[in-house]
Amino acid sequence: MGTMLAVVKALPGPGAKISTVETPAIGPADVLIKVIATSICGTDLHIYNWDAWAQSQIRTPLVFGHEFHGEVVEVGREVATLHPGDRVSVESHVPCGRCHQCTHGMMHICDELKIIGVHRAGCFAQYVAVPALCAWKVSPGMPPEVASLMEPMGNSVHVVSEAQVSGKTVAVFGCGPAGLFATGCARAKGAAALYAVDINRHRLELAKAMGADEVINGADPDLIGRLVKLSGGYGVDVALEMSGSQKAIVNALRSLKKGGTFVAFGIPSRPIELDLANDVILNGRRMLGVVGRRMFEDWVEMQRLLDGGKLDPRPIITHRFKLAEFEQAIATIRQDGVKCGKVVLFP
Ligand SMILES: [Zn+2]
Ligand SMILES: [Zn+2]
Repeated sequence: MGTMLAVVKALPGPGAKISTVETPAIGPADVLIKVIATSICGTDLHIYNWDAWAQSQIRTPLVFGHEFHGEVVEVGREVATLHPGDRVSVESHVPCGRCHQCTHGMMHICDELKIIGVHRAGCFAQYVAVPALCAWKVSPGMPPEVASLMEPMGNSVHVVSEAQVSGKTVAVFGCGPAGLFATGCARAKGAAALYAVDINRHRLELAKAMGADEVINGADPDLIGRLVKLSGGYGVDVALEMSGSQKAIVNALRSLKKGGTFVAFGIPSRPIELDLANDVILNGRRMLGVVGRRMFEDWVEMQRLLDGGKLDPRPIITHRFKLAEFEQAIATIRQDGVKCGKVVLFP
């Protein structure tokens, strides 16, 4: 079928290689997509760095990458919903369609979930094959770099939807891309007041650009006092925990009013310690874990917010590279002191 350029995790160890590999073949229910724009995720850094999580999940050689936008160029014989020329963004979670979760409207937490770019060939390439089920047809005229961000942004749409932020005071803890998307989504979905917390001043600047009313340094010893004061002396209605840091999780809980809602999205690298009695139970607070994007409620809602101009993630895109400049892109993300939000690659 020919060859293509791709970023390959060739061997079990740190790093990656730009290689020429075979263009993927498609199955009867798949589509072949020509990648137009693809963004780098924290997960890709785990794979690049070859940490314990990557070692437990990845079998080499693997083309990785899972956030992208592209054009359908070939469809399998069973595919009726998509045609060559369609512009799509892609749900990276491939559900089995048969398990308890899948058959109860919860494909995003499928028991047999396979992830594009983790368990099967990904999108840091000129072409990628995916199940037609996972391809989301984007609205006409959508900028490719925005469409490439729908997968990660959909997580934040999910977080904000579950939190029901309309008319509420909301604090976002952690202003990496997930927290920045959540800030934009909370604004778009009618948060009454929006506070962003991070220890990195560049990220706080981006949070401002995404609509935060106030930004607060996470290292401020009076962080909780300030949030409580800002929200009328009661504490915030909703805390969105997007960092996974032990300290941020505790601060997020303690900044909540009694009866407030805590949504956990950031994944801690190890088990965390909580004063469940005082910080949750005795204050009647609600805790909720969110993963992935509901298929496809969150995609529908996200597309509407983008089309209506209520949500614009472009301030978060700080760097653009060619796919062949992958190493340079990784170096930029890893560099300290650089204002770095999302990095988009163009094959
Ligand atoms: Zn991702
Ligand atoms: Zn399933």
